Amino acid sequence: MSRRFAGQRRPFKPFRAAVFLLLIVVSPVLTSCGENTDSFFALDTSISIKIKGSEEDLAALKDEICAFDALFSPNGTQSAIAALNREKKVSDEWAFDVLKEAEEYRVLTGGAFDPRLGALSSLWGFGTGKTAVPPQDKIASLLEKSLASEFDFDGKTKTVSLSGEAVVDLGAVGKGALADRLREICEERGIGSALISLGGNLTVVGKKAGGKARTIAILGPDGSSYACFIEAADTHIVTSGVYQRFFEQDGKRYCHVLDPSTGSPVDNELSSVTIVSENGAYADALSTALLVMGGEKALAFWETRRDFEAIFIRKDGEVFSTGIAYTLP
Ligand code: ADP
Ligand code: MG
Repeated sequence: MSRRFAGQRRPFKPFRAAVFLLLIVVSPVLTSCGENTDSFFALDTSISIKIKGSEEDLAALKDEICAFDALFSPNGTQSAIAALNREKKVSDEWAFDVLKEAEEYRVLTGGAFDPRLGALSSLWGFGTGKTAVPPQDKIASLLEKSLASEFDFDGKTKTVSLSGEAVVDLGAVGKGALADRLREICEERGIGSALISLGGNLTVVGKKAGGKARTIAILGPDGSSYACFIEAADTHIVTSGVYQRFFEQDGKRYCHVLDPSTGSPVDNELSSVTIVSENGAYADALSTALLVMGGEKALAFWETRRDFEAIFIRKDGEVFSTGIAYTLP
């Protein structure tokens, strides 16, 4: 092995120098644009991220998820939602925007989606670990109080106030609103391909290598076998299903999505609704709202909008859609 000493001149070899320079320029690109993945627990669910991008890109997405979790969690010292529920007022720009969007979706869906049902969810025991069918009079009085509460939005100070006794719960729209932000970050950072799952809320950025759309499987009523498959690229795919979280009492199932017209868990022919939309918060809110509406009303709602696609899985396993193509297993 030859050794070189300080001051010893190397003969200049243009070709080798060019290759060396090329490597210096290209190698950071090669290492920074590989595939990076991460999975962790946040937002009370399992999160997984797969991107074509650098570790810094991955960290930026994870940081945003953790920031969102702290700000929107139902509890915690940093939570704007906990502050709003406790003090009936909160000033925070991000919380303001998401709450305002949530209120818009409540109005748009005729109240099928309603972010004021936190107290009722707790009454049924969801999130408390003690699920049970509550007395009907308690449901009725809590529902009346919840629906009597009203938001007030002060756009100048980005302050949201809440009158009355409702407990705000953004469980049906928060992950979608976060997914919108994550998609923006992918755009800002030039992440051309990503697959992000926030507890089953899927966000697809770009296409797979080779320019192909991704195939997304949609679960059937048993929550484990597949009911159908769709193709998706550059969009959000959000499912609300009655099999996701439920308890059983006296042989009857009670799921975590509540019908705001009764204050009780949804109980119709649908097992799940999957929404495909470029707007993540819209997809999330609508997946819950259309599950509440049931197939017939949901299709009538779609007729008035036609700005999203939906796939419906009935409890008997039958699949129908607003027109988006799907394949059966
Ligand atoms: P998940 O987030 O569990 O996948 P959803 O998006 O359908 O499913 O949200 C369900 C959650 O939203 C419930 O756990 C509850 O916190 C809240 N919620 C229940 N019913 C409604 C409703 N009708 N409108 C808005 N939020 C609801
Ligand atoms: Mg939802």
